[in-house]
Amino acid sequence: MASLTYTPVENVPIAHHTVYNKFHTNETRKLQFRIRQLQKLYWGLKDEEPALLEACKLDLGKSAFETYLTEVGWVLNDILFMIKNLKRFAKDEKAEDTSLMNMAMSPKIRKDPLGAVLIIGAYNFPIQLTLGPLVGAIAAGCTAVIKPSENAVNAAKIMEKIIKNSLDQNAYQVVQGGVPETTALLDCKWDLIFYTGSANVGKIISKKAAETLTPVVLELGGKNPAIITKNADPRLAARRLLWAKLMNVGQVCVSQNYILVDKEILPAFLKQLEVAFKEFQPKGAESAEDYGKVINERQWLRLKQMLDSTSGKILIGGKTNQSTLFFEPTVVQVSSPDDSLLKDESFGPLIPILPVNSLDEAVRIANKVDPTPLGLYPFGTKAEAAKILSMTRSGGASINDGFFHASIPTLEFGGVGDSGQGAYRGKASFDAFTHRRAITTTPSWVEGLLAIRYPPYTNAKLKQFRSMNDSKPNFDRNGRPTGGLVWWVLGLGSKSAAGAGGRWVLVAAIAVLAARYKDLIVN
Ligand code: NAD
Repeated sequence: MASLTYTPVENVPIAHHTVYNKFHTNETRKLQFRIRQLQKLYWGLKDEEPALLEACKLDLGKSAFETYLTEVGWVLNDILFMIKNLKRFAKDEKAEDTSLMNMAMSPKIRKDPLGAVLIIGAYNFPIQLTLGPLVGAIAAGCTAVIKPSENAVNAAKIMEKIIKNSLDQNAYQVVQGGVPETTALLDCKWDLIFYTGSANVGKIISKKAAETLTPVVLELGGKNPAIITKNADPRLAARRLLWAKLMNVGQVCVSQNYILVDKEILPAFLKQLEVAFKEFQPKGAESAEDYGKVINERQWLRLKQMLDSTSGKILIGGKTNQSTLFFEPTVVQVSSPDDSLLKDESFGPLIPILPVNSLDEAVRIANKVDPTPLGLYPFGTKAEAAKILSMTRSGGASINDGFFHASIPTLEFGGVGDSGQGAYRGKASFDAFTHRRAITTTPSWVEGLLAIRYPPYTNAKLKQFRSMNDSKPNFDRNGRPTGGLVWWVLGLGSKSAAGAGGRWVLVAAIAVLAARYKDLIVN
C-alpha cells in the first residue's frame, strides 16, 4: 500500500501563519487574483487528470468513468461555473425594500472574504469533497489550508502536487496527516472550518471551534431512507436505488441507508431488484470492472460486523473478501427498525429492506430512525411524494430517484440537524466563505434630515420620526386586508399636514407614498 508523507506536527502552525499572513496582505481579495487562481487550479487538475483517475482506482477501486463523473469533471465544471459568475456573485447588493430616506445612505451588502480558512476532506470522494470547497474559498477571496483525508492516500498526494505546482503557495497550503496533525490544525485560530466527514468527528471539530468562536460548515452523514409506496413503479425504484448503492461501493454520504417498502409492492420490487442486478453486473459484482472496493480494512471490518449482526435474511449477495476489501452489494430483508443495519449509517453496499403496511407507517419509522438525515428518497405518486416531504425533514431529497439532487452543480448541498450545517455548491460555495458585510454611507447633505435623531428627544421629534419611519400594516386584527389607494392618499395628506415642513417632509412624503404604492401593487 502506498504511504503518505505526513506534515510534521511542528510545521502545522507554520502553514496556518503562512495563509493567515497572506490573507492580511489583501492580495487575495482582488477579483483578478481569485480568477487567476481558479484558472490555474483548472489547468492543474486537467494536467493531472490521468494521475487522479489512477489515484482513485488505487484508493477506492473506482472506475475511470466514476472518477471523471464524480470527481475530476465535477470539480472542473465547478471551477468554470465559478469563474463565469464570480463578478456577479462578488458585486455589492443593495438593501431591499427601504425608504427613500434610508436610500440616501446607500445601504448595501458588501461581499468580504471570511479570511484564512481550514478545509478538512473525507475519503469517499477525496477530490470533489476537498477541492470543491476550495473553489468556494478561492472565489470568495479567502486563503486556505487543505487537509485531505489520510485514508485516500493516492488522491491526497496528487492533490498536494496540484496545489503546490499550480496555486499561490502563500495563500493555499496542504497539510497531510491523521488525528494528531488535524488536532494541531484545530489548535490554530481559523476564520472558518469547513469539515466533511462523520458526525462523531464533526462534534470534535465543533467543540474545538467553539473555544475560539470559529464558524463551522459541517457536511456530515445520516441514515437516509428510501420510501417505496404501493403505487411506485417497482422497476424504476429497483434500478435507481441499486445504482445509488453500486456507485463507489455505497460509500456515498447521500445514498439510501435503508428502504421502506409497502408490503403490497414488495414481491414486485424484489423481483425487479434481481433483474437490475443481472443487468448492471451480469457476471456478478466480483467480476464487474466498474465495481470498486471498500477503502480500508477498518471500514471493511465495520461493514462485516454490521452484516454479521443483522437478524434479517440475506436475499441477494453476501460475499466478502477481506484480503481484496471486496464487499458484495447485499440485499437483506429485515423485520425491525432496531436491526443493526438500520441503527447505524452503513456507508457501504448494504441494502436493508424493511416491509411496511402503509406510507404513514414508513414516515413514522423514518422519523424515528433519523429525524434529520442527509437525503430522502420517496418513490410513488406525485401526491405521495409531496405528503412524504411535508411530514419529514432532510438535507435534500430526490423524488423517484437515488441522490440525484446532489449531482446538480448549481443546487445548494448540505445537511440539516444531525446531518450538518451550512451548504455549498454553485453560488452557495461562494456564499459559504463570504461575510455579508452591511455598509451605509451617510452623506453630509443629509445632516438636516437627521436632525431629529439627536437629543434632546422631544415629542415633536418622535411624531416626526414616526410619520417618516412607520410602515402601516395591510391587514387588520383579524388578518383581513385593509387599505386602498384613496385611503392611503388621505392618510398621507394628514401626515404632511402634521409635519414641520421643509425638505425632509417632501422626502418622507415621497418615501411613504412609494412604500404604500408598492404595497398596493404587490397586493
Ligand atoms: P472521518 O470523520 O473519519 O474523517 C474525515 C476527516 O476527519 C479526515 O480528514 C480525518 O483525518 C479527520 N479526522 C478523523 N478523526 C479525527 C479526529 N479525531 N480529530 C480531528 N480530525 C479527525 O470521515 P470519513 O470516514 O472520511 O467519512 C465518512 C463519513 O463522512 C460518513 O459519515 C459520511 O456520511 C460522511 N460524509 C459526508 C459527506 C457530506 O458531504 N455530507 C460527504 C462524504 C462523507
